Amino acid sequence: MRNVLVTLVVVSALMLGLAVRPAAAQNARALLQAADNAAGASKVNSIQYTGTGRISYLGQNFTTADDWPRVDLKNWSQTIDYGNKSAKEEMVRVQGNNPPRGGGAGFPITGEQRSTTLVTGNYAWNLNAQGQPQAQNDQAEVRQFMIWVTPHGFIKAAMADPNAAVTDREFVGEGKTLRVVGFTTMGKYKATGEFNAQNMLERVVTWIPNPVMGDMQVEIRYTDWRDVGNGIKAPFHIHMHQGDHPLVRGMNYMDVQASEVKANVESASLTVPDAVRTAAAPRVNIQTTKLADGVWLIAGGSHNSVAVEFKDFAAIIEAPLDDARSNAVIAETKRLIPGKQIRYVVNTHHHWDHSGGLRAASAEGATIVTNELNKDFYERVVLVPQPRALSPDRLSQFPFATTGPGPGKLETYRERHAISDGDQSIISYHVDGFNHAGDMAIVYLPKSKLLINADMGPPAAGTPAANVSPNSVALYNNIKRLKLDVSQHVPIHGNPSSNADFERTVGPAAARARPAAGQGQ
Ligand SMILES: [Zn+2]
Repeated sequence: MRNVLVTLVVVSALMLGLAVRPAAAQNARALLQAADNAAGASKVNSIQYTGTGRISYLGQNFTTADDWPRVDLKNWSQTIDYGNKSAKEEMVRVQGNNPPRGGGAGFPITGEQRSTTLVTGNYAWNLNAQGQPQAQNDQAEVRQFMIWVTPHGFIKAAMADPNAAVTDREFVGEGKTLRVVGFTTMGKYKATGEFNAQNMLERVVTWIPNPVMGDMQVEIRYTDWRDVGNGIKAPFHIHMHQGDHPLVRGMNYMDVQASEVKANVESASLTVPDAVRTAAAPRVNIQTTKLADGVWLIAGGSHNSVAVEFKDFAAIIEAPLDDARSNAVIAETKRLIPGKQIRYVVNTHHHWDHSGGLRAASAEGATIVTNELNKDFYERVVLVPQPRALSPDRLSQFPFATTGPGPGKLETYRERHAISDGDQSIISYHVDGFNHAGDMAIVYLPKSKLLINADMGPPAAGTPAANVSPNSVALYNNIKRLKLDVSQHVPIHGNPSSNADFERTVGPAAARARPAAGQGQ
């Protein structure tokens, strides 16, 4: 009897101990040890995957409701050195039979598009077409983190976190119980992984920072596990999603089938090139040019904005890239147009490089003008006030009170939207017949006859008709359709140029393309 009582007391103490752990989680050490034995993670110092598959252009879908535009991976290889925190990924992309709808650098692809991305610890770089390193050190953190969600990297990083925890997950209806391990690495990145009855890692769910999505969900499924020698197993099929959200599901990012996986390959560790080690940190550069009375081009980076003065307020066309860029554009607008509130920020289209600063616009209190196709995504995904733990921005750090007064609202339109004080006007027109983005707008300033476009050229003056892109032809056709009287083109990418040059260069290309008109509607 006495023994039974003692046992009961001990059991109660254990249960109390468990009860204070979050959500019935237990220390993951035993499971991770079993997972290590099953996959041989501790024996893997380096690993090389080679294969083929598909890859997508993140944030460049035709509309906010579509999957990412994808292309084929004619060749793919990834080499990881865990001890040196090095990873090298090489891709040869081709368009294949994938529809040419959507955006992205070089999309749709003609011929082959090659890329090599690398990371070693806190240094990251790409190789350009000539094979020279281009520093990308601001990408190093996420690239390094992605090493810790690879199949063997996950087990290594989870074992290195003394607080790694495990909980059961019931897939009710499928009759399946998986165990889910959660850990933290590099001080802030969290990852979870689902392990099956054989202690194999089937799926990773994690988050990386993104200016549009915030803590953006990444899901990676590992299947087709095979023996690769010396007690090491590796998955030959990898399927990745990026950017899924309850409102936008099924965002396929990558799917690769390995033809070969080699563990402990030679020379997997990378040497940081001097040009990368000594590269200055990228900083926001602002260069302003007056375009007309009350109109300024704010350039100096990869994406321009335009500031416009009205009688009682100011407006900005385009809040690109991210919080840092767009806050600098806002500050410059206040310097150019002192004492007037920025009432509107006009958005050309939803692609992430063009909408990454909309949260900064919202934090400033501005009303965002955009196509009605973007309403749900902007209101319910991009501008929501929940915290952004991995990369806090102005709106998440200084939120508006829920009871109000809140930020400006969205103003949406289908074909045309005007901001006017009777003298100065900004008119947004929806672009017809355009494969790059279903919501694309061109923005016209009738007083100065300036036309602002994103991702539609114009091409350099004198470009042969055969080399003029369909995007510039679409710009030409829409100017004619809308009967716009344009003197100067102001692109979001590149420098302003005259409409006379545009007519001479794009006119013949548009005439050639006319028989095929009607495609891609
Ligand atoms: Zn675009």
